[in-house]
Amino acid sequence: MRLRHIPGAEEKIAESPFVIHNPREEKGRWGKRFQNTNPIEIEVGMGKGRFIMELAQRYPERNFIGIERYSSVLLRGLEKREQLDLPNIWFLCIDARDLGEIFAPGEVSRIYLNFSDPWPKDRHAKRRLTSAEFMKVYEQILAPKGGVEFKTDNRGLFEYSLESITSVGWIIQESTFDLHHSTMAEGNVMTEYEEKFATEGKPICKLTAVLQV
Ligand code: SAM
Repeated sequence: MRLRHIPGAEEKIAESPFVIHNPREEKGRWGKRFQNTNPIEIEVGMGKGRFIMELAQRYPERNFIGIERYSSVLLRGLEKREQLDLPNIWFLCIDARDLGEIFAPGEVSRIYLNFSDPWPKDRHAKRRLTSAEFMKVYEQILAPKGGVEFKTDNRGLFEYSLESITSVGWIIQESTFDLHHSTMAEGNVMTEYEEKFATEGKPICKLTAVLQV
């Protein structure tokens, strides 16, 4: 994502009532924060957050947490969030590497990765959000029947992900190289990037991975 520094973004995030500022203190207690025992789903790298806010509106019986490491990007999401009356969503401005310090084992029921940065150079492979290293982080926090959903327009990243995900014991439950013309399209919620690529006629790849069937 092209990053534009927005002056004051960090201060605005620090003041926002929609962001959890000390997320490590919530570890193992997220249900209290949401004031219910509903399942918790997270999007890692939410960008401007269209996807996760749409999910929160569609599924009031689930809890959602949008994660974005750059304050300038998260700020755009917060501007939209302020227009909505949603009791079931929070945002975190953190790096996904720290997820294991923020969620207890089994506390998360679903993880969404949408149009994650491809990091095309081999030496940066560990930074890809579907690398074996990140899958091990997700394994730490995911409920036994939970899953990871990944969408991308980048075929190379998708093929890499099919391999890296299975290399650490995950099972690919479903996958497609052309989401919008597949049976997986039902109920699909578009992200900002997805809409842009789909408008350009690019096929979208999607997989769902689980730890046990
Ligand atoms: N998911 C959105 C969409 O589909 O429209 C945004 C996609 S954008 C290409 C990827 C986003 O992931 C960027 O905003 C980036 O800052 C964020 N990101 C990448 N690595 C991250 C990490 N390790 N932790 C948190 N966010 C990350």
